Amino acid sequence: MNFASYTIVTTIAAILLFLSLTTEVLRAQTHPNFEFSLGVDYSAAEQTLDFFDHRIGDADRVAKLRGNQLAAATSVMLARTEKSRDDFRDQLELARNITRFESDVYGFFPAKNHIPELRKLLNNIKQRQLDRRIVATIASFFPEQAKISTRFSVYLVVIGNERASAFVRRVVWNFDTPTFVNDEEGEPVIVVNLARMVEGPPNEQAQFIEVLSTTAHECFHAAFSVLQKSLPDSLRPRNIADQLLDIVQNEGIAYYLSLQTHLGGETPSRKWFDETSKAVDILNRVLGEMLSPNLTHARAQELIMDANLSGSFEGNYGATSGLRMAYEIDAHLGRPALTATLMNGGRSFVLTYQQACLRDGSLPQLDKRVLQFVGQSSR
Ligand SMILES: [Zn+2]
Repeated sequence: MNFASYTIVTTIAAILLFLSLTTEVLRAQTHPNFEFSLGVDYSAAEQTLDFFDHRIGDADRVAKLRGNQLAAATSVMLARTEKSRDDFRDQLELARNITRFESDVYGFFPAKNHIPELRKLLNNIKQRQLDRRIVATIASFFPEQAKISTRFSVYLVVIGNERASAFVRRVVWNFDTPTFVNDEEGEPVIVVNLARMVEGPPNEQAQFIEVLSTTAHECFHAAFSVLQKSLPDSLRPRNIADQLLDIVQNEGIAYYLSLQTHLGGETPSRKWFDETSKAVDILNRVLGEMLSPNLTHARAQELIMDANLSGSFEGNYGATSGLRMAYEIDAHLGRPALTATLMNGGRSFVLTYQQACLRDGSLPQLDKRVLQFVGQSSR
């Protein structure tokens, strides 16, 4: 999920100030222009489990941990509701002593019901150096000429609204209190809810891969947002169709990175090819609608939301079509062709996919009208 694509956004100021004992710093030196490091903060995850387990008793302190504040505020937003300042702390205390809530806005119970599994997962993450692996994965998805020098914080938590298992937002910190800011301010923070990773079968390897793939996906968005700031203004979206193509590219490559983490070098299933082909069909249809003069503002917003936030793989036509395009670009034209599109905007991503289509006529085709639009040099 990438909130930056919409209006709600994210970051961190003075990151170095809050390097705590729970934070590890690693640097990627895969190529000289790519200096990307990651600090992983485990304290919200660990102390929330300790609190539910009655090992510690100070609800106020647990509620004020940075990771928990980020997760709580975002949960309220995702639930499309409003809560008082102390609501999170009060509900946290209540959740420790009862077995369920009518409505679990902050997502306490998946964590409370899986405490031993979550402790194991946390140990596994530390031992297997999640941060080092993420940095290496992300570096392989950026072109050599991309200049990035940045440090992100990843907050591992065990709570959060069911609508998102991970997210990136931009914040500015006032001591330990976050203020959410827009694209131009602060820096990105990444929040990952580990409770969502232990819902499936008790397979430790699969759970670790899920954490790795989810976190790397969000880190890609965060690193790409830094790179985008250095690109010329002419690449910024000029209309709703460009906005959509930016989502297709950004989510497409991020989901492709996640897919690779899961599959390694294996080929996806037949079903995957069918579903992603259908998503390209929907993308053609939506772009046709967006390029028509009858498009209303409300309909445009609805189409943009559905591109990545419809709630299902098939429904997220923008992300899923972008995933297929990224896969085919990498397969037919190679990684440098895919990563070069990051320097050249959403239209170049689609044009590069068209080159793959010219090599392989069996790929899901783009409509003429779409190709005409992306071929115009209006951005
Ligand atoms: Zn995403």
